[in-house]
Amino acid sequence: MAKHNCAICGAEIGLLTEQKLADGNYICRKICAKKCYKALDLVSSDLDTVRAHHAQIDFGTKVWNQIFMPLKSTKIKEEKLKQFGHGEYIYVSPSTGLIAYTDDRYKFFLFGKTTYALVYRIADLYGYEFEEETKKDSEGRETKEHYCRLQFRNTEGLSVFRIGMSGKMDFDAVCKYFDTLFGIEKTLGNMANQFKTQMNAAKSFASAVKEAKDGTLNEEQADKIMDALDTAIYGDRSALIEKADAALASVK
Ligand SMILES: [Zn+2]
Repeated sequence: MAKHNCAICGAEIGLLTEQKLADGNYICRKICAKKCYKALDLVSSDLDTVRAHHAQIDFGTKVWNQIFMPLKSTKIKEEKLKQFGHGEYIYVSPSTGLIAYTDDRYKFFLFGKTTYALVYRIADLYGYEFEEETKKDSEGRETKEHYCRLQFRNTEGLSVFRIGMSGKMDFDAVCKYFDTLFGIEKTLGNMANQFKTQMNAAKSFASAVKEAKDGTLNEEQADKIMDALDTAIYGDRSALIEKADAALASVK
């Protein structure tokens, strides 16, 4: 029987103890595959992604312990964490511009748990969508399960995952929270502002198309226009980026 070595820790592995990755590499189930979040699909991941994910867990767990844990018990209103999820959770920290996605690993229930965390910049959150799945229970009855799928940019490792929601209302609360945080609330009072930013973005986009046709558009201009479009759609996130980078730089 063919023996392999784990591409990460080097342990000798065989049919029952190995996990094959999308790029043909093998990792060990006992340590290196087990360390990964369940949300990371190993069969479709390559070695670089798994390595990045491990680094993401190591760093994220540090950030969780150093930044999030103290904030869990803060008395200062502006620093309080917002928790979302059903069964598994994300914690949003608007005062530091960060989000943590936690994973409790129970070793032996007598010995308690270890909490791992993946930490993202709130500003990198570009998608939050509702998902519903119908499942059959053991007696054949249909039950509905609800999720919120989160999507992050500028992220190596696990960048897309979903957390359980108790229902649509739970999701609506997530949506409203982030829309407000990003300043993209679609209330009537905000419509005029929203419209102005979108008109400006549309105007610069139209002129860019013309310049591209004439061959006078340069890269710098194109970048500026893409930023303007992003801001129109996703809100201005520069303050959140600044906060997050300062917080992350403080982690030892
Ligand atoms: Zn290994």
